Amino acid sequence: MHSFKGNRPYYAVIGDPIAHSMSPEIHNACLEHHHMDAVYEAIRVRSDELPNMIEELRETGCKGFNVTIPHKVKIMEHLDEIDPLANEIGAVNTVVIENGRLKGYNTDGLGFFKGLRAFYKRDLKATSILILGAGGASRAIVKTLIKQGVRNVTIANRTVEKAHGLLNGSRYGQAITISAAEHNLESFDIIINTTPIGMYPNTDEIPLSIRTIDSGTALIDIIYNPLMTEFLKQGRRIGCTVQNGVPMFVHQAALAFELWTGQEPDSKIMEDIVIKKLGGKK
Ligand code: NAP
Repeated sequence: MHSFKGNRPYYAVIGDPIAHSMSPEIHNACLEHHHMDAVYEAIRVRSDELPNMIEELRETGCKGFNVTIPHKVKIMEHLDEIDPLANEIGAVNTVVIENGRLKGYNTDGLGFFKGLRAFYKRDLKATSILILGAGGASRAIVKTLIKQGVRNVTIANRTVEKAHGLLNGSRYGQAITISAAEHNLESFDIIINTTPIGMYPNTDEIPLSIRTIDSGTALIDIIYNPLMTEFLKQGRRIGCTVQNGVPMFVHQAALAFELWTGQEPDSKIMEDIVIKKLGGKK
């Protein structure tokens, strides 16, 4: 049940399930750190409750909220305005409420991009990127990468038609099968796993065989539980540089915080909490 903590200004995350969300902890830590008199809470919202809940949030002093599974697409029908990138991605994960008006954004792709830039310093225009998966996260990442100037994106997906659909004829991307990707690993500078393969509890699974990979390839897995997936473990053994899903998660949250408060939060605070919660070293 939601509580709308007293009469204090508040932020929220809505989704179903929501009990294991790390968002309240990281946002509350930053609100406290920046001496802001507000609170962030998780609210379980079933699909049939979404329209009423949006009105309740609008009317009870909520200043903004995150949106997670299963509402990221459906929420768009209920907003007054949608940022162009979120529109292109076709999903909203952050809503800002100002003067009773709701504006939707998507910070997943840009959050991923910030993490990528901290990890991979070479010119992205000349970089060949392979993305595994063509679901919601892939969509946010691909649209953002192309918008940021990446010109060579390949999507490999179990259902190839979905990858074609995501690219929608873009001249900067192509869709292939997982097996075609496995046979051409040497042609990619960066490989990004956006499928849930390898996620807890199926931690011994890997989205494709990387036996023939070159040690110069950079690997990113957007999964953060476990912190080190089998995909990243095998890549590291070969000598590849690797990044897990924590930077994407932390940066999408930090970007939402900034949209709501105008203040760039100390993302290190968020990162330390996430890593500690997931059993890693601070
Ligand atoms: P989604 O929309 O359900 O898409 C999943 C994708 O993975 C689809 O392309 C699907 O292929 C593919 N897939 C799923 N199971 C598969 C299997 N057994 N074999 C082959 N392909 C399979 O999910 P999503 O929302 O994009 O999330 C994907 C992952 O990203 C999750 O692990 C999620 O936790 C993670 N994520 C992380 C962050 C972060 O901040 N780090 C943010 C968002 C998501 P088909 O098209 O063939 O079904």
